[in-house]
Amino acid sequence: MIKKKLIDKIRVAPGKKVNLKDFDTGWASVPEFKEAGKDAVKQKAAEILEENREELAKAQELLWASDIHSVLVVLQAPDAAGKDGIIKHVMTGLNPQGCEVHSFKQPTAEDLDHNFLWRYMRQVPERGRIGIFNRSYYEDVLVVKVHPEMLDAARLPPGKRGDGFWEKRYEDINNFEHHLVRNGTLVLKFFLHISKDEQKKRFLERLENPDKHWKFSAADLTERGFWDEYTKAFEDALSATSTKWAPWYVIPADHKWVSRTLISDILVNSIDSLELEFPKVSEQKLAALTEAKKQLEQE
Ligand code: AMP
Ligand code: MG
Repeated sequence: MIKKKLIDKIRVAPGKKVNLKDFDTGWASVPEFKEAGKDAVKQKAAEILEENREELAKAQELLWASDIHSVLVVLQAPDAAGKDGIIKHVMTGLNPQGCEVHSFKQPTAEDLDHNFLWRYMRQVPERGRIGIFNRSYYEDVLVVKVHPEMLDAARLPPGKRGDGFWEKRYEDINNFEHHLVRNGTLVLKFFLHISKDEQKKRFLERLENPDKHWKFSAADLTERGFWDEYTKAFEDALSATSTKWAPWYVIPADHKWVSRTLISDILVNSIDSLELEFPKVSEQKLAALTEAKKQLEQE
C-alpha cells in the first residue's frame, strides 16, 4: 500500500485552483524516493502493483456479491499518456463479467441530438460493476473548449452559448456526478499528467516502430500544437470539478510503472473504504442449503 500522505498530495482538494506546474510528472516527488533511488522505488512499485491486482480482484468480487455499489473510473489525459496501458495492466485479473470499458470518440449524429451528458449516462455501470470511461464527458469541457467551433454541431438554442457557458457545464458535471454518488456509485477520476517532452518521445517511438504506427494519427500532432490551451482547459476543469464526492487525482504519467501503481492503489483503497460485506443468507435459505446438501449426499 502506498502512503496516504502521497495519495493526499495528488488528490485535488475541492475548490483548489489547480496549476499543473505544481504537480509532478515524474517519480521523485518525495524526498524519501529520491534517497532510495529510482531502481529501488521502481522495484517496490512493481511489488505493490502485483499485490493490488489480487486485492482488486477480491474487492471486485465483493462489489459484485454485495450488489449495492458500482464504481466509475474516469480516465482523461493528453494523447500518449498511457490510458490504454492503464486499462490493460491495472485491470488484469478482474472478472470480465463485472467490468466494462467504454471509449468515447467524437459524438455521433444521434449523440448530438441529445444533451451532452446523454451518451455517457447510458453507459454508467450498474450496481456490482466497475465501469471505466476511456475519455468521458470531460471531453466536452476539454477538446470542445479548445476547439469551440465543435459546439456548432451541437445545435444549441440561440443564446445558450453566452457568458458562463463553461462554468455551467462544470456545474452540470458536478451535479451529474453527485447524482451518481447519491445513488451508490463511487466516482474516481484520474488525470494522467505527462510532460510535453515525454509525449514527444512517445510519439517518436510510435513513428519509428512499425508495430506502433497504427497508434499514431496526424491529428495527434495537430493537437500537440494546442498544448498550452489544453493545459489551461485541464487546469480549469480540475479546479472546478474536484469535489468531495468525486475527487480528481493528478497522476504522474511520465513513467508507466508510477501511474499504474498509483491508480491501482487508489482503486483498491477506495473500494475498501466502502466496507462491503458478502451478503448474509437468511435462516430459511441456510436451512434450504443444509437440506440440499443432505439430499446430494444421500444420492
Ligand atoms: P482516440 O481516443 O485517440 O481514439 O481519439 C478519440 C478522439 O475523439 C479524440 O480526439 C477526442 O478528443 C475526441 N472526442 C472524444 N469525445 C469528444 C467529444 N465529446 N467531442 C469532441 N471530440 C471528442
Ligand atoms: Mg488517439
